[in-house]
Amino acid sequence: MTSLELELRAIIEAEGPMPVSRYMALCLGHPRHGYYATRDPLGAAGDFTTAPEISQMFGELIGLWCVEAWRGMQAPKRVRLVELGPGRGTLMHDMLRAAKLEPAFEQALEVHLVETSPVLAGLQREKLAGAAVPVAWHESAADLPAGPLLMIANEFVDALPIDRFVKTAGGWCEQRIGISGEKLAFGLHPTPLSGFDESLPARLRRAAEGSVLERRNLASLREIAARIAAASGAALIVDYGHRRTSFGDTLQAVRMHEFADPLESPGLADLSAHVDFESLAALAKSEGLRVRGPIAQGVFLRRLGIEPRAERLKRKADAKVRSDIDAALARLVGSSPRHMGELFKVISFAHSTLPIGPGFDSG
Ligand code: SAH
Repeated sequence: MTSLELELRAIIEAEGPMPVSRYMALCLGHPRHGYYATRDPLGAAGDFTTAPEISQMFGELIGLWCVEAWRGMQAPKRVRLVELGPGRGTLMHDMLRAAKLEPAFEQALEVHLVETSPVLAGLQREKLAGAAVPVAWHESAADLPAGPLLMIANEFVDALPIDRFVKTAGGWCEQRIGISGEKLAFGLHPTPLSGFDESLPARLRRAAEGSVLERRNLASLREIAARIAAASGAALIVDYGHRRTSFGDTLQAVRMHEFADPLESPGLADLSAHVDFESLAALAKSEGLRVRGPIAQGVFLRRLGIEPRAERLKRKADAKVRSDIDAALARLVGSSPRHMGELFKVISFAHSTLPIGPGFDSG
């Protein structure tokens, strides 16, 4: 049994079964035993890999997207470039290299990283040690300074804790995690929630018994949206998930590149759940922002020019590197289930006065 499981059991014994969001928050963020708090999970040697770790092209193109968004904001003299959950700092590192192509943009930049993991914040510090722009770290989006901003989040939202609800004969009940026999187990809170059906989009009301609905705390994204509404800017969110709110159990654990049981070895596996892009869009609209997407990552990266970029990189490369570039390109834009191009989606929300950012046009 992991040290975290001992602590979880003590909490459950004292307070009763816990909400899924609390379980997920502790598994990922517990200061001593949390998954992100204690390790670098990324890359071939870790548990999973992400688009910026696959190829520098990803960060470079997103860096250029930011340059265009900044131009659309009338090129302010100072702009905060915010990243939520920056992992190893690779995405920001590649974005800043692309930013050098527009010196006025680079001069306007102030980088703000929001990270809760001390281990990953340390890796980010090393990676960005030579950055030509000021870089600051924050534990919460609530601590970000006000002012015009550009925000990027890749595979961040999927790690934000979700709560789960199950439709029973008596109504919607919250799922909780308790102890059954010797094991952690899912159970249902006995009292149905009042008004839950009415809070769903009309097409999802009167669901069949057994339907599962996941809801995520998006407070950090609301912070960003409110700052953009007040002072201008744009946000770009890339993640895996579904376009519209829908039923289904998507909580997953990944350990050593394999799926695992989310209740087994808490703290030792990555936990995530699909992103519901419809609720992200609704949040942004409720703050008065304009929403673009979601569109497939493959479509977005192609529109930003990933194919010519790959060709250019290949020109200077030997045969091995050329085939690595081809493999990375296929992984990022390909549409099969082993590729990210269809599974991952991109959404942007921006101040209503900004032009459509590149990549979201229908051409
Ligand atoms: N964006 C990176 C890393 C993705 S992993 C990449 O694409 O490679 C998720 C990242 O989010 C990690 O850096 C993790 O420490 C961070 N994270 C998870 N939950 C967080 C939270 N609640 N607040 C801030 N950062 C968080």
